[in-house]
Amino acid sequence: MRRNRRVKILATLGPASSSPEMVERLFLAGVDVFRINMSHSTHEGAKTLYNTVRACAARHRHPIGILADLQGPKFRIGEFAAGRVTLAPKSIFTLDCDETLGTAERVFLPHQQIFDGVAAGHNLVLDDGKLRLRVLEASNVRIVTEVVAGGILASRKGISMPDTLLPISPLTEKDKADLSHALKLGVDWVALSFVQRAEDVHEVRRLIGTRAAILSKIEKPSAVTDLDNVVAASDGIMVARGDLGVEMPVEKVPGLQKRITRTARAAGKPVVIATQMLESMISSPMPTRAEVSDVATAVFDGADAIMLSAESAVGQYPVEAIQTMDHIATEVEHDPIYEAILYATKTEPQPTGADAIAQAASAIADTVRLGAIVCYTATGSTVLRVTRERPGIPVIGLTPVEATARRLSLVWGVQSILTGDPENLSHMVRKACRIAFEEGLVKPRDGLIITAGVPLGSPGATNMIRIAFVDDSGAPIAEEV
Ligand code: PGA
Ligand code: MN
Repeated sequence: MRRNRRVKILATLGPASSSPEMVERLFLAGVDVFRINMSHSTHEGAKTLYNTVRACAARHRHPIGILADLQGPKFRIGEFAAGRVTLAPKSIFTLDCDETLGTAERVFLPHQQIFDGVAAGHNLVLDDGKLRLRVLEASNVRIVTEVVAGGILASRKGISMPDTLLPISPLTEKDKADLSHALKLGVDWVALSFVQRAEDVHEVRRLIGTRAAILSKIEKPSAVTDLDNVVAASDGIMVARGDLGVEMPVEKVPGLQKRITRTARAAGKPVVIATQMLESMISSPMPTRAEVSDVATAVFDGADAIMLSAESAVGQYPVEAIQTMDHIATEVEHDPIYEAILYATKTEPQPTGADAIAQAASAIADTVRLGAIVCYTATGSTVLRVTRERPGIPVIGLTPVEATARRLSLVWGVQSILTGDPENLSHMVRKACRIAFEEGLVKPRDGLIITAGVPLGSPGATNMIRIAFVDDSGAPIAEEV
């Protein structure tokens, strides 16, 4: 089941896509990783989805990734006596600790941590960015604000504090329960919402250990400020454009998307572009031209994966949305300008043996016509360094570790195959040739590149690169090892 595309597709599961038949259709249409949104999923529901995806993967003998997305600290205001009020621009509005029903002058804010973090001059954003307040004075029981952008405000609407570094743990009690459930199921990736700083990621890593990889969602200005450290602390990054466009002016999102993508690519961490990519396809079988262009931009930028949210979770056209993404990605990747853009956005390798080999593999592929780069890998780290170079030919990760194969499903250009460690060097070359040949990546007399760590089977020590050519039967020609 080889995809004819290097960027990966991540699709959110939901009521529109939870049946085994629909999961099967979405996989066949091109999904590489499925996302279970813990904000909307019960534990029982998550378990059913998990088992459905694993059954699909087993049927096709193809590693499919599963990402559990934790809700994170999402805050809401209290209730209004009238259900909703209208806030006039320049009027004074207070948030306080008084549980009585609110008016157009004040409302209850049931989150003590916000009072502890907010200071005069900070902005408060309500209802997905529709209303904006500026803090005039703040104490640990009252926040007095002036309305900057007014409008109708209903009970229990979301509130965010773009300027405030909140003294809170990255995981709520709900997140902790959801995380422990997801880890028990055996998900491959865990996404953290509203990460504020690198320390948040370290804190969660102490809970998760090596049981799953961590994808940090960049949707807070403080995470953008601490971007290099957040990227370094994480296994992958999501450009969470929905909340990012609430916490920051929407016009800043495209530039940030490019900056976050470049930073993650330079670090060799997979980066996902998310939210509203094909939003109109929730209710229409055709995307808008602007959406097509948006998906194409993410692919041209060399992102590892592009994501669907409501389009696949609750939309009327989940299969069509995947097909649309697949067609756009394939077209972009065949565009002559694509390779040139990827080449122009490459960054320097680090001074390590693994990067030297990764860079050499990519350079060799540019010099000789070869069919694939085959990497023997236990943890997947070598594969990440090789794809960081965005080489012009497919990358195959051969691994005996199922978790590694599944995690790599999110990564640009990688197809991972589960296979035992080779017994010796000669076996290693024969096996790589046979697999590349069987996968249709090399034809008779074509060559391939092999990378591995010798002694074989010892993780974290890639130190070998080799070119091999195959004969008519897919065996290595003139093997001298
Ligand atoms: P969400 O994250 O869908 O969980 O809110 C993505 C985003 O904010 O863009
Ligand atoms: Mn979000």
